[in-house]
Amino acid sequence: MARTVLVTGGNRGIGLAIAQAFAKQGDRVAITHRGSGAPDGIFGVRCDITDAAQVDAAFTAIEAELGPVEVLVANAGITADTLLMRMSEDQFGSVVDTNLGGAWRCAKRASSKMLRARWGRMIFISSVVGLYGGAGQTNYAASKAGLVGLARSITRELGARNITANVVAPGFIETDMTAELAENLREQYVKAIPAGRMATAEEVASVVTWLASDNSAYVTGAVIPVDGGLGMGH
Ligand code: NDP
Repeated sequence: MARTVLVTGGNRGIGLAIAQAFAKQGDRVAITHRGSGAPDGIFGVRCDITDAAQVDAAFTAIEAELGPVEVLVANAGITADTLLMRMSEDQFGSVVDTNLGGAWRCAKRASSKMLRARWGRMIFISSVVGLYGGAGQTNYAASKAGLVGLARSITRELGARNITANVVAPGFIETDMTAELAENLREQYVKAIPAGRMATAEEVASVVTWLASDNSAYVTGAVIPVDGGLGMGH
C-alpha cells in the first residue's frame, strides 16, 4: 500500500537515499530543504525545522499535495564539534535545537493526523555516537541520545493506536558530513569498525523502509544500529 512519507533533510545525503528508496517502492514522498530545491520527481518544501511555524506550513503544504503524512523520517541534522571546554552556548543550543528539537516539532505536528488515521510510523535518525559518546561531540551525542527518549515516550503515548516510533543509529556513512573528516581520522575510524568499511546511505535507507512497512508493525521503541558492529547497541 502506497503511503505519504516525509523525510526531513531529504535533499541530500542519507535523507536523499531514504527519500529515493521510498519513491522507488511507489510511495508519495516529500522532503524538506532549506533552499536547494527538491530532487527530481520528489515533492519539496522549504523548511527550517528549528522554526515551528515553518514546520507547520511544510506539513500543510504536503497535506494539500500528497495527503496527511503517514510516515515521518526525522533525518535532518547538523554537527558543530569541539571540545567541551571550548563549546559555546550557541554551538550546544543550535545542535540540540536542530537535531532533537526539530525532530520533536515534526513528530508533534505529525501526531494528530496519525492518531486520526490510527496508523503511523515515526523513524528518528540518531547516530552510533548517541549511545557510544564521542569526544568533541557533547552537543551532538546529547541530541542523538535524546531521540531515544523521545521515540520511547511516543511509543508509550501512541503505541496502542498503531503508531510506531523507532530510532535508527547509523555508524559512519559516506556523505557530506563525513567527507569533512581528516584522512587519518577516517582511517582510524574504519579500523575500529568490525565490518572494516564505512556504509553507503542506501544501507541505512533499507532499514528505514522496513521500519515503515507493515512487516515491522510489532517493532517499536527500538534502537536499530546500522554501524557495521561499531557500537553493537551500546
Ligand atoms: P548531511 O550533512 O549530508 O545533510 C544534512 C541534512 O540536514 C541536509 O538536508 C540539511 O539541509 C538538513 N538540515 C540541517 N539543518 C536543518 C534545519 N535547521 N532545518 C531543516 N533541515 C536541516 O547529513 P547526512 O546525510 O550525513 O546525515 C543525515 C542524518 O544522519 C543526520 O541527522 C546525521 O546526524 C545522521 N547521521 C549521519 C552519519 C554519517 O556518517 N553521515 C552517521 C550517523 C548519523 P540543507 O541541505 O538545507 O543544509
